[in-house]
Amino acid sequence: MRTTALKLWIALAIVLMFAAAAAQGQQNQNRADNELHILPVQGNIYMLLGAGGNITVSSGFDGTLLVDTGSAQMSDKVLASVKQLATMLTASTYPASPCVGVRCPGGFGSGAFNQWGWTSPAINTIISSPRPVKPIRYIINTGIDPDHSGGNPKIAKAGVTFTGGNVARGPGGSGESAEVWAFETVLNRMTEGKVTEAAWPTDTYYTNSYKFTAFFNGEGIQLFHVPAAHTDGDTIVYFRYSDVISAGDVFSIASYPVIDVAKGGTIQGTIDGLNKILDIAIPQFRSQGGTYIIPGHGRLCDEGDVANYRNMVVKIRDRIEDMIKSGMTLQQVKAAKPTMDYDGRYGSPDAFIEAVYKNLSQKP
Ligand SMILES: [Zn+2]
Repeated sequence: MRTTALKLWIALAIVLMFAAAAAQGQQNQNRADNELHILPVQGNIYMLLGAGGNITVSSGFDGTLLVDTGSAQMSDKVLASVKQLATMLTASTYPASPCVGVRCPGGFGSGAFNQWGWTSPAINTIISSPRPVKPIRYIINTGIDPDHSGGNPKIAKAGVTFTGGNVARGPGGSGESAEVWAFETVLNRMTEGKVTEAAWPTDTYYTNSYKFTAFFNGEGIQLFHVPAAHTDGDTIVYFRYSDVISAGDVFSIASYPVIDVAKGGTIQGTIDGLNKILDIAIPQFRSQGGTYIIPGHGRLCDEGDVANYRNMVVKIRDRIEDMIKSGMTLQQVKAAKPTMDYDGRYGSPDAFIEAVYKNLSQKP
């Protein structure tokens, strides 16, 4: 009786082991697993995948800055991941000083760990407990789409804005939210489109570029407006020390360019935007490595990836332009398959061809 039970247990254990291994395998194959993944990119910069559009994170001793906030339904998971990252990076335990002499940092008699100071188990616990997690202070939106800005309300509310002397700022002046930055047409379109006010940018810029006025986490951050690319409100963000560009949907390697003609997107603006990224990026060696580019969707890229993508877009633009010149209708252009050599890589070209056709046939 006993041996039978034992055999059953062993059999069950083996079945469970195989089941677990199979589940693991399935999970690895299925990248859209509805979970978030943190990828260290370079310097201070991390990439958060799986929340809709890619999210770029700068986390350090000044707090956290996010480029984009993902879709609304992923906000809780985004906040959990950001907190996990910030805790790992900034909330380390204050080290108990091994120093016991008069020349210890802080000087004579000033510290609990100074042998001439005073100490107790209680004060030691406070001193050696983890520092509080730094807050989310800034959000930059690369555009208006809900898979990039849908998390704004919840994530901005979880952050906090500081100005000089800790004067509270932000919506309502209560200091309860992070600053949300975007190109001004994003705010205009959110207002017109009756997007919930909690998602609106608190700060906008209207020039071709904008510099954050001071270092954040040890580096300068520049925003570049790319006119009329994916929409008329695109921003690419450049982290100057980490040397990472967060491109938003101006460059989205997972598909053909998504050109939202109704929101002011154009094929020429898309090409200009890709060229702008190539202007900034410098490869480490033969177009590999060096400046990293976080696309709106898809994997982490470098200059070579953007250059190949730009070449693809220009080629297809030229093909469609020739077809329009020879008098072909949209249906005829689609039937001629001007993207066929790339469809295996980028999927359905219909929306892209329609947008390019619309753009180019509107030209005088
Ligand atoms: Zn997108």
